[in-house]
Amino acid sequence: MRLLTPPPSSELLVPDSSARRVAIQTVTSRAVRTVRRPVDAEGRPARISQFFGNRVFGADKLKQRLPPEIFALWTATAEKGAHLDRPVADAIAHAVKEWALESGATHFCHWFHPMTGATAEKHDSFLWFDGAGRPIEKFTGSMLIQSEPDASSFPSGGMRSTFEARGYTAWDPTSPMFLMDGPSGRTLVIPSAFLGYHGQALDEKAPLLRSMEALSRSACRLLGLIGSPAQRVTATVGPEQEYFVIDKAYAALRPDLVVAGRSVLGAQAPKGQSLEDHYFGSIPPRVLAFMEECEQELYQLGVWAKTRHNEVAPAQFEIAPVFTEANVAADHNQLVMQTLRRVADRHGLAMLLHEKPFAGVNGSGKHVNWSMSTNTGENLLEPGSAPQENLRFLAFLAATLLGVQRHSAVLRASIASHGNDFRLGANEAPPAIISVFLGDFLTRIVDGIVSGQVASLAVGQAMIELGVSRLPAVAKDNTDRNRTSPFAFTGNKFEFRAVGSSASISFPVVCLNAAVADGIEQLSAWIEAGRGDVMGAVRRALTESSAVRFDGNGYSAEWVEEAERRGLPHARNTPAALAALHGEAATALFKRTGVLSHEELDSRYEVRVELYNKKVDIEADVLRELVDTHVIPSIVAELSATGGVAGTLAEKRFLAAEAVGDRVYAARAALDEALSGVPESSAAGAATYLCSKVVPALAELRGACDAAEKLVADDRWSLPKYREMLFVNG
Ligand code: ADP
Ligand code: MG
Repeated sequence: MRLLTPPPSSELLVPDSSARRVAIQTVTSRAVRTVRRPVDAEGRPARISQFFGNRVFGADKLKQRLPPEIFALWTATAEKGAHLDRPVADAIAHAVKEWALESGATHFCHWFHPMTGATAEKHDSFLWFDGAGRPIEKFTGSMLIQSEPDASSFPSGGMRSTFEARGYTAWDPTSPMFLMDGPSGRTLVIPSAFLGYHGQALDEKAPLLRSMEALSRSACRLLGLIGSPAQRVTATVGPEQEYFVIDKAYAALRPDLVVAGRSVLGAQAPKGQSLEDHYFGSIPPRVLAFMEECEQELYQLGVWAKTRHNEVAPAQFEIAPVFTEANVAADHNQLVMQTLRRVADRHGLAMLLHEKPFAGVNGSGKHVNWSMSTNTGENLLEPGSAPQENLRFLAFLAATLLGVQRHSAVLRASIASHGNDFRLGANEAPPAIISVFLGDFLTRIVDGIVSGQVASLAVGQAMIELGVSRLPAVAKDNTDRNRTSPFAFTGNKFEFRAVGSSASISFPVVCLNAAVADGIEQLSAWIEAGRGDVMGAVRRALTESSAVRFDGNGYSAEWVEEAERRGLPHARNTPAALAALHGEAATALFKRTGVLSHEELDSRYEVRVELYNKKVDIEADVLRELVDTHVIPSIVAELSATGGVAGTLAEKRFLAAEAVGDRVYAARAALDEALSGVPESSAAGAATYLCSKVVPALAELRGACDAAEKLVADDRWSLPKYREMLFVNG
């Protein structure tokens, strides 16, 4: 008989569940936080429209506060996108300063989007001194237009050497200024681009603005060729934002959520999303209170927050705004993410933006709805009822398909991130193959054109022949709802669904704008070469882009094979996807469109590869720490408590715990082994290695830990469990 002797109790290493239990008590006894709604003149709750944008210095306020001739100069400049004259800038600076001071602001800041994917700001007070040394408030046109933050600590992807570390921020006059509330003060925020000393784009904004210019130029050219000229075309974007919220008492006890935004271990709860009871379910009161407070802030900031609902996974939600110009949408999406985070904290909640915070339930994405609109507000992807409008629609549709077909590898690269690797192609998100969904009816039309059935300019007649005389109604009713497509036509816009939830929308939109601008240029060139034969060029574009059209089930294994036969790129992970940014095709695309220089494109690549490497490193570190300081101590405690006489139930438990402990140890050692081999010669080499060796080792170790969690007595497990984080939220 083998006797298993537990160590004397004084030596017992006993992690316990007390912290978890305190967290559960905290969570279940939290009160719902409410805030006062703004009121109207009679003291009644104000309508949204009565306080919408009251913290934004929009065109209305400019008009009120500027002398009419200066306002006219300003609108003319804004419409043309031309350079701002100093007297106009000074007048605007004065007007916005007065407004900001009246509203209680003490500081201003240039707000920019470095290549971290987040935002950055450095505040300066309005405080100055007059000639006699008396304090005054001062804000000039040059302070408005430009600022020079010490920017050496932002990622530049090798573009700025430290001896040339200066960068500057430049006001983006097309995105309105606004007031940001602090706990006891206010700051005037000036949306800006961030540039290196020699004008290189060090941020997400400058390329976005350039890509919008490129798209506008190309679209205007095409519109001229098809006889419906416009002065400007704007990329319009409406991003649907998914996120999780859990109680912050749990999040604080999970080092992985704190440092990686994702649970790197955690056994799945017996109930995940299988009952399908969360999607569009009634919103829990605490979360609703949080959403209401968020929206109240967003409305004041001029964000058109429109939709809110429960998403598919437990504890997962969505917010979507009404679409607007791409650069404003990008600013607003950053505000949405920041506001969600800040307000969640006030409600005792932690908002998780990660693409895959919890294994076993759906992750989060961002559906980036995208279209093009003329300066007179006409949506170029809106199928028209008149034949000429149909021609315009078909031309832009064909150009978009051509651009996406030719540059699908770039589009795939634009959404690549460590977090998104857990989602794409995992039966909950579009696969990592870029294809376009058009829906039955449009496909019939497109096929008809490709096969030569619709060959004349009389598109309207042809559509009648095809049985789809009323294109708008048909397109609206018959598109969308194929959730497995990464790029789907949804009636009058495309929905780029593969974007990650934590990502800035800027780079994906930059790549999309550039790709489509390029497709439009090609189509225009074909039309010119064909002496104005629009349908001929459309047919050629639709024919060339046939391979990228796919309406079937994007989750299926057959599609992966079929896509390979069609020669569509399939980059399964981030390092593989990012390689496209290095290719000649990408370099040429961005150069042709004037969106990014070779150096600037390279820097995007470098920054992304490094970010990937750092993220994997952080996950490896935090998982090892969790194993050493939580999982193994819990297993040891289990062993200590269950040692007993052979043949008893206690021994069975002991042996099982010992086996799982061995498995954890072995996987832990294998991870160390994998980490010791990371090549140091290049970041790209490291990324490929981390992806193929370390990521699987992490998954293996996680599997062992999750088996341990399922075995160890509940009161000896220290980390909050999935069932608590996802389902016990007060
Ligand atoms: P869902 O895709 O969930 O059905 P909706 O169809 O209501 O949602 O729209 C989703 C998003 O698409 C919203 O943000 C909406 O403003 C945006 N959207 C609608 N039209 C356009 C457009 N022309 N350009 C860009 N975004 C658009
Ligand atoms: Mg949608």
